[in-house]
Amino acid sequence: MLDYGDVAALCTSEELHIQRTTREFLVREAAPHIRDWWDSGTWPGHLVPRMGALGLLGPTLPPAYGGSGASAAAYGFVMYELERIDSSLRSFASVQSALCMYPIFTFGSDEQKRRWLPELSAGRAIGCFGLTESDGGSDPVGNMRTHARRDGADFILTGSKMWITNGGIADVAVVWARDDAGVVRGFLIPRGAPGFQTRDIARKMSLRASVTSELALDDVRVPAADELPGAEGMKAPLACLTQARFGIVWGALGALEAVYSEALQFARSRTTFGRPIAARQLVQDKLVRMLGDHTRGLLLAWRLARLKDEGQLRHQQVSLAKRDNVAAALAAARAARDILGAGGITLDHGAIRHALNLESVSTYEGTHDIHTLIVGRDVTGQNALE
Ligand code: FAD
Repeated sequence: MLDYGDVAALCTSEELHIQRTTREFLVREAAPHIRDWWDSGTWPGHLVPRMGALGLLGPTLPPAYGGSGASAAAYGFVMYELERIDSSLRSFASVQSALCMYPIFTFGSDEQKRRWLPELSAGRAIGCFGLTESDGGSDPVGNMRTHARRDGADFILTGSKMWITNGGIADVAVVWARDDAGVVRGFLIPRGAPGFQTRDIARKMSLRASVTSELALDDVRVPAADELPGAEGMKAPLACLTQARFGIVWGALGALEAVYSEALQFARSRTTFGRPIAARQLVQDKLVRMLGDHTRGLLLAWRLARLKDEGQLRHQQVSLAKRDNVAAALAAARAARDILGAGGITLDHGAIRHALNLESVSTYEGTHDIHTLIVGRDVTGQNALE
């Protein structure tokens, strides 16, 4: 792993073991095929049970629910390694672990945990998280039209969700809706529930090896037992987003390593005017910028992981790191594409694929600018967001 600041020296042997085994698995099973999957828009679903068997899904959960009680950094390394191959794989695992298993574990009933967590952890079931609606994702409170009407002990859900990762392949959807009093609540909707349909979004030029879907809810009856009892108000989905953003903080660095390594290797072998382009100051400047961003980003990711394990992590710190690490990875992917010259526009190299993927990563889970405003509000005490 690229580790110029020797973060490995700050990690436990268990964390480094998870990093290594995840990399070995992905180098063998995913790296040789990812460009074809991306090119053909194929979701490599066959990897899901393999990821489950390796303990990559919900690893921080206790063993009773299929996890291994792994540390936040161990979870981060899994996200890093998945995104080093492709953001599509990390997006799948982020949603599964942070946006489906986490809310069920944190806000769910014992029965809901017993029913879903072991299946999701083993990769026998897939989850999705439906918060965003077509009117705009940055303001999920103001723009939430999906309604949960009480009917006796049940709820009847009506509305739609947009841009939902894993939507069309999910066995269970965590859906957020407002009740009659306007309170946001979370519901577990199994695939095939009457009135519940999904439609995959086509012609994406980003995250092409990931399924992104629209969810349609037309008078879907949800029994009281499928409401998340501990989730009341926007705090609940926002807590899930903090978990997922933490994974992105690490994942973006995996993509950064991929494009940096590719550009460095190319620069050493590409010769112009009788010397390798790696000998040119302008090229070295680009490579060193990438390395500096990766080094700082990894130190920050590691520190946030320790704060998370200590229960001291603030969501604003995650916003800053998500914003900065994704921006750094996107800038690196564009610079790597540039170093690769004309060949850089093809899928023979990873740079353009990572750059296009990172456009989504920059937008989802709170856009770059929304995170700027969250941190800006934190440090100035002035609210420029709302
Ligand atoms: P908008 O909110 O309409 O924003 C448009 C632009 O306006 C952005 O540049 C934004 O920064 C800017 N803007 C908005 N408000 C302000 C402001 N106050 N000040 C300054 N600028 C502002 N959602 C889910 O719920 N579940 C998922 O699994 C999921 N997966 C996704 C997968 C992909 C591939 C993508 C692309 C999106 C996914 N999303 C998902 C949705 C994602 O979270 C939203 O796209 C994101 O929150 C932004 O919302 P929006 O696209 O509606 O943009």
